[in-house]
Amino acid sequence: MNTVTRNLRIGLPSKGRLSELANELLNQAGIRFRRQNRSLSASVSGLPIDLKFLRTDDIPILCSEGAIDAGITGSDLVQESGASVKTTMPLGVGKCRLAICVPEAMKINSAADMRGMRIATSFPNVTRQHLQKNGIDDPYIIQLTGSVEVMIQLGVADAIVDLVETGSTLAANQLRILEEIGSYETVLVQNEKLTDQETLQRVVRRLEGVVIARDYAMLEYNIPLDQLDQAKMITPGFNSPTVQTLENASMRSV
Ligand code: AMP
Repeated sequence: MNTVTRNLRIGLPSKGRLSELANELLNQAGIRFRRQNRSLSASVSGLPIDLKFLRTDDIPILCSEGAIDAGITGSDLVQESGASVKTTMPLGVGKCRLAICVPEAMKINSAADMRGMRIATSFPNVTRQHLQKNGIDDPYIIQLTGSVEVMIQLGVADAIVDLVETGSTLAANQLRILEEIGSYETVLVQNEKLTDQETLQRVVRRLEGVVIARDYAMLEYNIPLDQLDQAKMITPGFNSPTVQTLENASMRSV
């Protein structure tokens, strides 16, 4: 029997804030492609990979259903979708928190005090689960797709659950964080039954290079030999520090 080998299909956000982040990561990882006129697909030069440009929030479910083998999306969207996908690796970008926000003047202390409140959010599932954990069995949730932060002003909601990055949007709308529900970032996810692990691992290794390089800096210094043990504790290196002897026998280069 002939086994047909298919290219690995990776879903990428077609637009929005994660689109740029994902394109930049792939570019830095040397995964090059040319997308023609906003088309749905692009092939990667030198690798058996087809990129599929999709809505960021559809990527988790399309991945669990097998329409794509892997994808880049937000871990918030993975949780909200409830899709059964495996998180292959966190990508260290797109970091944000999902938080319950209320008017600055509202005098409540936690989610447990929110009984009877109207809550606007584009994360109804995560919100409901969080409130139920806090004893609000049947929360009143108004599901929206965007601009949640203005809903209190519009009189539609008493509180909101939204993504927060710096807090400046909250301040502009006289809101404060009541409680954080979770912290999220951009992730690479894969179908749980994926068989072409080899191509995906090539992508992972390249992305790891980018992600690790972003978190580490190269530092080189000379130090008296009797301070070397202390220095190694402060700069332990990635695996172990490189230590070299110098012309002056009482000094080392780390
Ligand atoms: P998009 O809808 O394509 O603009 O992307 C939204 C996704 O970007 C969210 O689901 C998060 O994963 C991520 N993100 C990171 N920071 C923020 C933020 N401050 N506001 C909204 N989304 C954010």
